[in-house]
Amino acid sequence: SDVIADRLNRISPSQTTAMRQRAQALKAEGKDVLAISSGEPDFDTPEHIKEAAIAAIRNNQTRYTDISGTLALRRAVAAKFQRDNGLDYAPDEILVGTGGKQVIYDALIATINAGDEVIIPTPCWVSYPDIVGLADGTPVLLPCGPNQGFKLTPEQLEAAITPKTKWLIVNTPSNPTGATYSAEELRGLCDVLLRHPQVHILTDDIYEKLVFDGRRFTTFAQVEPRLRERTLTMNGCSKSYAMTGWRIGFGGAPRHLIKAMDKLQGQSTSNTCSIAQAAAVAALEGPQDATEAMRQVYEARRNRVVASLNATPHLRCHLPEGAFYAFPDMTACIGMTTEAGTKITNDWDFVFALLTEQGVATVNGTAFMFPGHFRISFAAADAQLEDACARIRRFCEGLR
Ligand code: PLP
Repeated sequence: SDVIADRLNRISPSQTTAMRQRAQALKAEGKDVLAISSGEPDFDTPEHIKEAAIAAIRNNQTRYTDISGTLALRRAVAAKFQRDNGLDYAPDEILVGTGGKQVIYDALIATINAGDEVIIPTPCWVSYPDIVGLADGTPVLLPCGPNQGFKLTPEQLEAAITPKTKWLIVNTPSNPTGATYSAEELRGLCDVLLRHPQVHILTDDIYEKLVFDGRRFTTFAQVEPRLRERTLTMNGCSKSYAMTGWRIGFGGAPRHLIKAMDKLQGQSTSNTCSIAQAAAVAALEGPQDATEAMRQVYEARRNRVVASLNATPHLRCHLPEGAFYAFPDMTACIGMTTEAGTKITNDWDFVFALLTEQGVATVNGTAFMFPGHFRISFAAADAQLEDACARIRRFCEGLR
């Protein structure tokens, strides 16, 4: 209706919502539904982090904080960037937001003018193009398929940059593919970026702690210190510490950018929850063994899920190098018909029929701007995953 602003039309209607509603309807009918569609850890927040929050309540840390976060947390974030990434950020070069999502939102809304271009390799987390659209910017989507490891190449980047390019957004490890850039791969991109000073880099490192096969995580400003002055290094507690509900994300960037983000956040949410900030200090400064234990569980699950998918007819799954998602190719199923008689014409038909006929909820690739695939989250209990993989196999074996 005409009460709604035009800018809202620039957000894509969420297909994940349609899937969730369908899954709920099936559950209400008494069907056994396995949801392997969620983007959050199935683990509980570690005890010592919860205790820090309880202590913060008792100590009356219940008031407004600085918009960009308490000094204690910004110092803990600075120490984390130094320790894990070799990056030197002062506390006033750090902003804490309500989840990593708000940090991205702050940065894009605070910097994009109408018509500015933002380069986004796909498959991508759909919030990037949606937020760029809200900011009146133009998302420039660059398809990066499994043949290139779902990674942007220097040649693709060079060809896409124009005088209007404001940002490049890279997410490593990636949601939904798990692709994780090595230092050499980032080096190639950095060399291109050094030639184009108008381009800023937003690196979404929120899955940093979840890398597999002994890989070492690295990030743009670490690989190329000369890019530090135009890089926003974004990270957070949601995935590393199983803290999605606490809403703690953070970014390190040059002072002028942090100041602009702080100004914007000051007219939206102000600071994120003071209790959650105290918990985040404990997460960053406390023992890191819970994070490593979770990482090992994800890696073992990845191995089993990918092996099962690659043993399933008509599917092919690239090996995720990090995060907790698999992103199998289902293009071989297009044109086939399910046991119940549904013709599969695209990735949406596939995930919808898989949910209806086998009770397995996943997310279609188009939700990540990359059709012909679907996303499985292995942030789910082992028994559930095993059952889900068996049902996917049954579903695919039934295709004619
Ligand atoms: N970036 C990526 C790639 C994500 O997958 C997510 C969460 O799903 C976020 C950022 C946002 O995290 P947060 O819950 O901290 O806002």
